[in-house]
Amino acid sequence: MSPSSDRLSLAALEHGRPFSERHIGPDAGELARMLETIGVGSLEELADAAMPTSIRSDPADWEGERTPGSVDSAPPPAATEAEVLDELRALAGSNTMLVPMLGLGYHGTITPPVIRRNVLEDPAWYTAYTPYQPEISQGRLEALLNFQTVVCDLTGLDVAGASMLDESTAAVEAMMLLRRVVKNRGDRFLVDADTLPQTVAVLRTRADSLGIAIELVDATSELPEGDFFGLLLAAPGASGALRDHTDVIAAAHERGAQVVVACDLLAATLVTPPGEQGADVAVGSSQRFGVPLGFGGPHAGFLAVRQQLARQLPGRLVGTSIDADGQPAHRLALQTREQHIRRDKATSNICTAQVLLAVIASMYAVHHGPSGLAGIARRTHRMTAVLAAGLVKGGVEVVHRDFFDTVLARVPGRAAEVTGACRAEGLLVREIDADHVGVSCSEVTTREHLAATWRAFGVGELEVADLDAATKDAVPAALVRTSRYLTNPVFHRHRSETALLRYLRTLSDKDVALDRSMIPLGSCTMKLNATAEMEPITYPGFGNLHPFAPESDAPGMMKVIRDLEAWLVHLTGYHAVSLQPNAGSQGELAGLLAIRAYHHSRGDTHRDVCVIPASAHGTNAASAISAGMRVKVVRTTERGDVDVEDLHRVIGEVGDALSAIMITYPSTHGVYEPHVRKVLAAVHDAGGQVYVDGANLNALVGLARPGRFGADVSHLNLHKTFCIPHGGGGPGVGPIGVAEHLAPFLPNHPAQPSAGPETGVGPVAGAPWGSASILPISWAYVRLMGVDGLRRATLTAVAAANYVAARLRDSFPVLYTGPGGFVAHECILDLRPLTKSSGVTVDDVAKRLADYGFHAPTMSFPVAGTLMVEPTESEDLAEIDRFCEAMIAIRAEAARVESGEWPADDNPLVHAPFTARSVLVGEWTHPFTREEAAFPAAGRAEKIWVPVRRIDSAHGDRNLVCSCPPLEELAEA
Ligand SMILES: *Cc1c(COP(=O)(O)O)cnc(C)c1O
Repeated sequence: MSPSSDRLSLAALEHGRPFSERHIGPDAGELARMLETIGVGSLEELADAAMPTSIRSDPADWEGERTPGSVDSAPPPAATEAEVLDELRALAGSNTMLVPMLGLGYHGTITPPVIRRNVLEDPAWYTAYTPYQPEISQGRLEALLNFQTVVCDLTGLDVAGASMLDESTAAVEAMMLLRRVVKNRGDRFLVDADTLPQTVAVLRTRADSLGIAIELVDATSELPEGDFFGLLLAAPGASGALRDHTDVIAAAHERGAQVVVACDLLAATLVTPPGEQGADVAVGSSQRFGVPLGFGGPHAGFLAVRQQLARQLPGRLVGTSIDADGQPAHRLALQTREQHIRRDKATSNICTAQVLLAVIASMYAVHHGPSGLAGIARRTHRMTAVLAAGLVKGGVEVVHRDFFDTVLARVPGRAAEVTGACRAEGLLVREIDADHVGVSCSEVTTREHLAATWRAFGVGELEVADLDAATKDAVPAALVRTSRYLTNPVFHRHRSETALLRYLRTLSDKDVALDRSMIPLGSCTMKLNATAEMEPITYPGFGNLHPFAPESDAPGMMKVIRDLEAWLVHLTGYHAVSLQPNAGSQGELAGLLAIRAYHHSRGDTHRDVCVIPASAHGTNAASAISAGMRVKVVRTTERGDVDVEDLHRVIGEVGDALSAIMITYPSTHGVYEPHVRKVLAAVHDAGGQVYVDGANLNALVGLARPGRFGADVSHLNLHKTFCIPHGGGGPGVGPIGVAEHLAPFLPNHPAQPSAGPETGVGPVAGAPWGSASILPISWAYVRLMGVDGLRRATLTAVAAANYVAARLRDSFPVLYTGPGGFVAHECILDLRPLTKSSGVTVDDVAKRLADYGFHAPTMSFPVAGTLMVEPTESEDLAEIDRFCEAMIAIRAEAARVESGEWPADDNPLVHAPFTARSVLVGEWTHPFTREEAAFPAAGRAEKIWVPVRRIDSAHGDRNLVCSCPPLEELAEA
């Protein structure tokens, strides 16, 4: 071989294998085999056959379609992992990190390295899905139960959910909860004027569409005359003031209202908690329990209630039940409250929450234990007390006598000057108005920070030790907490790092996440979350930014935000994008509020009906209700499409009350509806707006743009299509793209004017850009793939779904197909005929898949009795085949039930899953072997053992246990 013919040029070699070939599972040979099975010659041919041409468009044409004034910008050509990491490192490095002393619900904290590396940076935790399959989710369910216990114990209330999206939206959920339970007390909701300003703003955004009147009140004086259904108090207040709310809570109760307290978990270790002061509900953020500031999020909000309100809780709740062997096991409790079951009657639209962050916060409590937490709280408080004493000594007026971690200083006419001097000292403090500055201490505050603050206020050099000795605590005696908390052994056993490390590993080993096997969940798009995409989120340059830091402190973060907005605009064909909504559900709400505001701006205040197909995701209906709309359901046809005839009937019925239609595209049935443009036109002709739920964008990116095929607004799920990991049930990001006429009504934010239009609907999340610190993940994905790579990913995802449909069709009928008999990026397997002939249910198949080493597909959505499979582009052919073979083997097992060989009530399907212990019992009485139970044919070579048997959910709902029992109860038992 001559060297010249064998030699590749430098140009061909220098970039190595493109990242897109690692993101995309099947290689060229595998893809060819898949296409052959499907019966098409190429990916392009498949796209031409499966997708209606009426929606198709080519990236080459997009440049010419830009609307004037749009931020539209094409992503640059794909870069390598090394290049992208260099770029992100430089961007993170360009941010100015001041010591965060601005407060307002966001505080400095130290993520214990053992938790950072072994939870936040560990794919076993971050690639997991929401624990709907509890038998393979016991680890994160236990961690969430710990979180709930932390919240219950520290707030002094009985039941807490497994996380809210943030503190401000938790306050909204609490307001809506009280409105449901308090009857005949009108529509007035009183809010402590000392509440976090972003929470007040989010409450106002949401109250407006719900017909609730928000009224700010001074919680230290008499409550105003007249009826009100609820009162929200702050403990401590945004100003730092710490107050005993016992009397005002009693006064509100006397008037027939109920009370929410927005509280600080760290303060609650030292201060009488809201529950003991009489509160009905407590909300807040667990950010300062080890979760980086991240320019605003993601952080786990919390909501806790007294026992009587448990069935009214919004969002997810973990509870303990028993498994088929009578052993304790955890699962999601009271699911009949939730949007996926109750739809427009749900207690909330929350789907994706903040599980990963709740796990981090709970582990922070496990790591420090009650005495460690109290130590951090005491230190924080002492720093604050000494800081205040120094200011007073230097002649500065300190407004409040009682406080926990925030000093409110009065500096007439000098606030800007003092804030500037603090900046010069490297400290970020809060300039409240011309006369007031707020300074908050935290776990990261040091003596040097106190000295620097004093210098900035011009009070000169002071001796910390002297002040410390001379200064009393600023928590009044009547408010000092006396009750115990976190007495369960889990908060005491893990003081050594060795013990904690093993606890974390023990828990994650119980779970099946993407790092173990494919998670074929339809609608959820469980694709690769590449390490290079994940790494940057823990760069300090992104993690340590306070959300209300001036934009000029965050040029690198802002570039990530602006780039991503522009790229998403380009990919969706919309005019503008808002990244603020922190989950798909919140995007839906923001989009519907924009539609509502648009109608109102034209005088169409009567347009309040949202039309939703019967097959829609539960969040759609729940969001429409949360946006103050009425829901009308439109039928779907036998083929799974929106029934155009029925749509015309509904539109006729609704008349000029029509506000919008919400459809999903491709549909929740996993097909590209050929008539979608007809549907959109019918709604537009009747004066309605079109909301396209973008959860299925993984079937469109690079091939079609909703903003160009007739939609007015969509949310995207960056935690589906754009590679943010699901985190076991959050975080997520649910940005919305809108057409030009809706752009003036995007969310905005009082603390950061550039976060949205001045004419916007107000904030829908506490932070200006929502969960900013995880945006680098999606930025990196787009940067690594380029438009070509993204387009190829979409085509491969469609091929993978059609391959699964082709392979499984003979075992399980594929319920819906679109043009040419093809599906889009997912397919629905109909198990109803099998259930009829054998008694084997979707549940049995789902549980049995765990014995084969797989997470189940989406169950009974959008059609009861079916499984929806979405393989995504990231699974290679070997893994897809393993899954298909497991499904085929399960069908063969069901056939043995059908034929009567195995009784309907004693076969490996009804008894699945099997723990190791369950097959090692002394006497084996089943008609199938132990080996058939535990090592079925086509199971994975490396056996994944489940830690518990099938869980009895109804038992748990009847006997509700939603926190770890305290030591006293354990001792009794
Ligand atoms: C996932 C999903 C949603 C909800 O998104 P979250 O981020 O979980 O709130 C809405 N619609 C569809 C079709 C979805 O698949």
